[in-house]
Amino acid sequence: MDFVWTPWRYRYIANAAKEERERCVFCDALAAGDDARVHIVLRADKNFVILNKYPYTSGHVMVVPYAHGGDFAAFDQDTLTEMMILAKRIQAAQESIYHPDGYNLGMNVGRSAGAGITNHLHLHLLPRWTGDTNFMTTIAETRLEPEELDETYRKLRHALGLNGNGTSDPTVSLGGGAAQGSK
Ligand SMILES: [Zn+2]
Repeated sequence: MDFVWTPWRYRYIANAAKEERERCVFCDALAAGDDARVHIVLRADKNFVILNKYPYTSGHVMVVPYAHGGDFAAFDQDTLTEMMILAKRIQAAQESIYHPDGYNLGMNVGRSAGAGITNHLHLHLLPRWTGDTNFMTTIAETRLEPEELDETYRKLRHALGLNGNGTSDPTVSLGGGAAQGSK
């Protein structure tokens, strides 16, 4: 009970403990057991695709490795390769749905680079339209009014040739993958 007398120490311990059990939105989504509810669009061998809960434009998705970790350089080649293959596939789906003028594909690694979630790597993939704000402004604060997430989810899954609810999906294999989660 020394925190009663040494509040600076209590703060230190409390912060350390908080970091220790910091929740990860991606790992939580994976463990939720309800892909449609958490808007996991598909699961591949090494990565999954999930809608951004706070989309900057309609159709904003993220490609995320199953393996928890924020260090880009630590990820193996198979995982990173599959990220790109998924991005290509998702982009084709976005194209067919939204016919945007362009796309942003990007990773923010580290807080100072603008990452909102620093402890689990993710690749943003979002359609862009002429006249919307630039990417950095977009990431910082400005948001257009995107469509409802359930609507995006339904459209993307349809464009990807998947059913509407996502509950009974087989893992989408892109070929060449080993067990998920390995680093
Ligand atoms: Zn995680």
